[in-house]
Amino acid sequence: MSLDTRWVLAWITNSQQAIADARIELIDLDRKIGDGDHGENMDRGFTAVRKAVEKDEPADIQTALKLVAKTLMSTVGGAAGPLYGTAYLRAAKAADGKAELGAAELADLFEAALGGIQARGKAVEGEKTMVDAWAPAAKAAREAADRGESAADALRAAAAAGREGANATEPMKATKGRASYLGERSIGHLDPGAVSSAILIEQAVEALNG
Ligand code: ADP
Ligand code: MG
Repeated sequence: MSLDTRWVLAWITNSQQAIADARIELIDLDRKIGDGDHGENMDRGFTAVRKAVEKDEPADIQTALKLVAKTLMSTVGGAAGPLYGTAYLRAAKAADGKAELGAAELADLFEAALGGIQARGKAVEGEKTMVDAWAPAAKAAREAADRGESAADALRAAAAAGREGANATEPMKATKGRASYLGERSIGHLDPGAVSSAILIEQAVEALNG
C-alpha cells in the first residue's frame, strides 16, 4: 500500500486498538516514574479520535491528522495531550495538499512532528521523554529517503529506530516533565511517552497492510 488517505485512516484505527491494548502497560510505566495516568489519558484520547474519524471520515491525510491533533488536545490532558496534539498538528501541516507521501515527504512529516514536540516541551534527546523515540525515527526516515528507499521502507526504518529509542530511555535520568522530580530514581525505567510514541509509529507500519 502507498502512504495515502487509506493508509492514514488505517494508521488511526490501528493506533486506537494498539493504545487500548497497551493501556495497562503504559499505566504501569507511568506509575513507576510519574503519576500513572498515561495509559488512561492515551486510551481516552484515541477512543475519542476513532469516534471522531468514524463520524466524519476525513478526505485526505492533512484533514485526518488535523482531526487527530484537535481531538487529542481536547481529550488527553496531562503533559502528553498538548505534546501529541502539537506533533500531529505540525505533521498535518507537512502533509498539506499531498494525496500520497513519498519517502522524503514522510521524513518531512516526522521531522515536523518532532519539531512540534520540541517547540512545546523544550526537551532534547537524552532527557528521557517522547523526543527519544521521535528523534531517531525522524532521522531514520530521512536517511532512508536520502538513500533512495521507498516510503514504506523509510517508514519501517523509522519504526525500528523509534522502538530502539524508546528502549534506550531505560538507563536515562529524566530531566523534563513529571519524571524529573524523581531525579536519579527515574533511572532503570522506560519512559511511558517514549513507549507510546514507539507504539504509534509502529502502527503506521502495520497500516501498510490495510
Ligand atoms: P503527565 O506527566 O502530566 O502525567 P502523561 O503521563 O500523560 O502526562 O505523559 C507523560 C509523558 O510525557 C512522559 O513519559 C514524557 O514522554 C512526556 N513528556 C513530559 N514532559 C515532556 C517534555 N517537556 N518534552 C517531551 N515530552 C515530555
Ligand atoms: Mg502521567
